[in-house]
Amino acid sequence: MNSLDTLARPLRDLRISVTDRCNFRCSYCMPKEIFGKDYPFMKQADILSFEEIVRLATLFSTLGVEKLRLTGGEPLLRKDLPKLVTQLSKIPSIKYITLTTNGVFLAKYAQSLLDAGICRVNVSLDSLNNEVFKAINNMNIGVEPVLKGIFKARDVGLEVKVNMVVKKGLNDEQIMPMVRFFKEEGINLRFIEFMDVGSSNGWNMKDVVTKKELYEKIHEQYPLEPIDRDYFGEVAKRYRYKGTKAEVGFISSVSETFCGSCTRARLSTDGKLFTCLFASSGYDLRTLLRSDTTDEEIVERIRNVWEKRDDRYSEIRTEESTSKRKIEMSYIGG
Ligand code: SAM
Ligand code: SF4
Ligand code: SF4
Repeated sequence: MNSLDTLARPLRDLRISVTDRCNFRCSYCMPKEIFGKDYPFMKQADILSFEEIVRLATLFSTLGVEKLRLTGGEPLLRKDLPKLVTQLSKIPSIKYITLTTNGVFLAKYAQSLLDAGICRVNVSLDSLNNEVFKAINNMNIGVEPVLKGIFKARDVGLEVKVNMVVKKGLNDEQIMPMVRFFKEEGINLRFIEFMDVGSSNGWNMKDVVTKKELYEKIHEQYPLEPIDRDYFGEVAKRYRYKGTKAEVGFISSVSETFCGSCTRARLSTDGKLFTCLFASSGYDLRTLLRSDTTDEEIVERIRNVWEKRDDRYSEIRTEESTSKRKIEMSYIGG
């Protein structure tokens, strides 16, 4: 058998970071003090070309990957992104291509992304209040362009999910306004627990609003009923507001871990393969791509890395491990 289907945790999803740059400086992801104007972002020559990304995605598809997610940094900052999507969508066994974005440029690109083959966009929005939102993105960008992007994406026919990271004291007041707004709009909202990714966001367990707390708060006002998991490895725990079709989901990476069904690999902008979001190093595929290594050999290397994988960071998170040096979220793409 060629794919990795026989493993307890098969390889199904590949998250591809297409740029390490971003037009936001979210305090929980790229704090301004660290990602300032002197921050050494990657040089063009170090970044995988579209041709290299497509070659790798094709090789990953032979190992069982059927879903690609484009991310970053902010993926819509990568020039000609729809052209990359068009090429990726021609890979025969790739069933879904999705995009995670902060939404600022989404209105501009929604139609061309759909035409190119994107089926779903996950838009990150942590507040409906302009002041709170600006305090999070640190770029004085208000909510309006993001909402415009969300509605445009929906209008052109893209499936849209909105992701909200909740950090205590930063935006927890915005939980119910977000619930009401997106429930009314029939747009699927997902809450993400604040995570200790990278080494620069000053994470502390005290700042995490857990899935249980979120669930109870929402359920008290809008009773929820669970929805069955769609597929093995689905990360969000999904619920429906009783009597409606609107959904809400929780990604409880800290309080209720799901390493046992983690089927995701991550490819950084410069072509390193990470088998866990919390890894401190990745496997360099770019050097192989830029040498005379054959496709078959590269597939074997990837297979080897995946088969040896024993990642379960979230399950064994301790105070000591949270302070260990890890790869930044903007580099690996979330
Ligand atoms: N720039 C795009 C965006 O914001 O959607 C894509 C990249 S971003 C790194 C991917 C996802 O990671 C976003 O949904 C973001 O909210 C989430 N994220 C970033 N830092 C996080 C943290 N410390 N804890 C939980 N989620 C985080
Ligand atoms: Fe940029 Fe997304 Fe990170 Fe915010 S979460 S700084 S938008 S990469
Ligand atoms: Fe997967 Fe690592 Fe997250 Fe566990 S901690 S779910 S292994 S990415």
